[in-house]
This record gives sequence, C-alpha cells and structure tokens, in this order.
Amino acid sequence: MGPQAEYFDLLTKGQFRIQRCNDCTSAVFYPRTHCPECGGTLTWATPKGTGVVYSTTIIRRKPEHGGDYGVALVDLSEGVRMMAQIVDCAPEHVHIGMPVRYAGIGPNADTILYRPEHAA
Ligand SMILES: [Zn+2]
Repeated sequence: MGPQAEYFDLLTKGQFRIQRCNDCTSAVFYPRTHCPECGGTLTWATPKGTGVVYSTTIIRRKPEHGGDYGVALVDLSEGVRMMAQIVDCAPEHVHIGMPVRYAGIGPNADTILYRPEHAA
C-alpha cells in the first residue's frame, strides 16, 4: 500500500496521523515514501492537534445539503500545512491566524476537522 492509501486507511480506522522522518525528524505531509528534506525513512506519528489557520474559504452549499461551511488551510504546530474543515464556527468567522484544535475526522473519512481553540 502506498503512503497516501495508508493515510486514508488510518483515517478510516479513526486514526489521524502525519509522518515524521526517522533521520532529521521533519514532519511530513502530504504522505510520501521518503523524507523530502533528507530522503530518510518515515514513521506515522500522532500530531499534537494544534494549529493556526493559514487561509480560509467558504464553500457554498444549499441548506438542504447542510449549508455553507468553512474550509481552511491549517498550519499544524508540527510545521506542515493541510486542508481541513472548520467546525463549531460560522464559516464567515473563520479568520487567518485563528488558533484551532483537532476535532476529529469527517464522516467520509477523507476530511480532517478542526474547531476554534477558544470555542465556547
Ligand atoms: Zn528527513
């Protein structure tokens, strides 16, 4: 199984993982076979779960399909950037620089969810 298939397989099992290099300890995302920094081998690791919104987009959706939702590029504390859906926050309130925390895996096991760090 390739690293991308492995990543989604882990999500299906409820495990959100990114990769870490065994040699230079760089965090790696999107999943790869070798470290892009040094060519070293990679191990799956559980992210701390914290991050900051780098950019944000509102996806428009009809109310009968669940309504609008916010998609963001999130910079994880580990130093990698990934696409995520922001939950527990109106999409128009998601802003660049907002601290977010890991909130689970989306229903189709293909989306990572984050919520505002300071959500009530
Ligand atoms: Zn490396």
